[in-house]
Amino acid sequence: TLDHHPSGRHFLQIPGPSPVPDRLLRALSLPTIDHRGPEFAALGKRVLSGMQQVFGTQHPVVIYPASGTGAWEAALVNTLSPGDAVLMYETGHFASLWQKMARRLGLVPEFLARPGTCAATGLPLSWRHGVDAALIGERLRADPGHRIKAVCVVHNETSTGVTSDIAAVRAAIDAAGHPALLMVDTISGLASADYRHDEWGVDVSVSGSQKGLMLPPGISFNALSPKALEASRHAGCAKAFWAWDEIVEMNRTGYWPYTPNTNLLYALSESLDLLLTQGLPAVFARHQRWAAGVRAAVQAWGLPIQCADPAVCSPVLTGVVTPAGVDADALRALIHRRFDLSLGTGLGKVKGRMFRIGHLGDCNDLTLMAALSGVEMGLRLAGVPLAGSGVQAAMDHFAGHPAPDGPAA
Ligand code: PLP
Repeated sequence: TLDHHPSGRHFLQIPGPSPVPDRLLRALSLPTIDHRGPEFAALGKRVLSGMQQVFGTQHPVVIYPASGTGAWEAALVNTLSPGDAVLMYETGHFASLWQKMARRLGLVPEFLARPGTCAATGLPLSWRHGVDAALIGERLRADPGHRIKAVCVVHNETSTGVTSDIAAVRAAIDAAGHPALLMVDTISGLASADYRHDEWGVDVSVSGSQKGLMLPPGISFNALSPKALEASRHAGCAKAFWAWDEIVEMNRTGYWPYTPNTNLLYALSESLDLLLTQGLPAVFARHQRWAAGVRAAVQAWGLPIQCADPAVCSPVLTGVVTPAGVDADALRALIHRRFDLSLGTGLGKVKGRMFRIGHLGDCNDLTLMAALSGVEMGLRLAGVPLAGSGVQAAMDHFAGHPAPDGPAA
């Protein structure tokens, strides 16, 4: 409860919200300024141009005072009309929620999935793998009349710890000669995993503040392409608050048509400063290195990593499958109670069967070692048979792979 104050700091090791760096917390606490005044325009322009760099785009980025779910809705209602067919791909819980939203908005989503169940874990195979671009290409070739108006995929599926190859999806759409828009949810990928809106030919990228950008929850993003902007001029879904036109127009001068989330924009400006000063390649490499250390731990425990394809394991989080009969949520509760460590719950089809370790944002080797120690102690207390010490394996990994940007580099 809120009146319970354990000593030391809480370990927020879920895959977002991620821990907020002190520098951002201080920025959040600055006095709120006039969002129509002269100082604000400089802030507005700075964060918009910084976000273009993070998305890898020359085209407009829209910032909403909303959680990621709002930016999902914005992507759909700005570009599509009621009754439009949309090809979506089941990679996990978040892909499923976006599909459910499309249906509620009066669109007609078709939900592709890799068929089958994993014999070893009992989990659906589509929840252990990334998007199969060939399946998308095949489906689009069977749509010569171009009824399908958009392809929607999740870049980093936060419920499974699996990434998808977005360039391959674009290549499959192009190879099929199909004009569908490509929309990508990179809510938990952006600013942690390599992402290139323009280069990968994405029409709408969707992201949020509370993951790689290290902000609290509360703002979210759409990055647009010229083709998406053109589609928005004719799309028939009702839209007002989410409509890009007035926002993009006013953003040219650094302002918004409504009251933006000023204090979160202060924090965003700090975050962009941190990320862009280090350089995004260093940020991506750091996350890959942490992920490899965490995977070394899970492998040493002898537990299955939910991502079955090593080439696409998420740099942001690792899904750990618990042995049959071990309730992953009971284990999480025990670890929280004993060690003040929060781990991600299993969502949707994998509830109770797995937990998620977040390794994103404001972490370092030692905070991750502490988190892994908490998990290992919890696994032992829960009586889960372990093949070996994951903590030792991760220590060996981190010691043997010095961080290129680390203290002793
Ligand atoms: N998509 C993905 C991949 C997510 O990880 C999340 C949240 O965790 C969402 C969508 C929904 O975003 P929000 O909870 O900010 O509305």
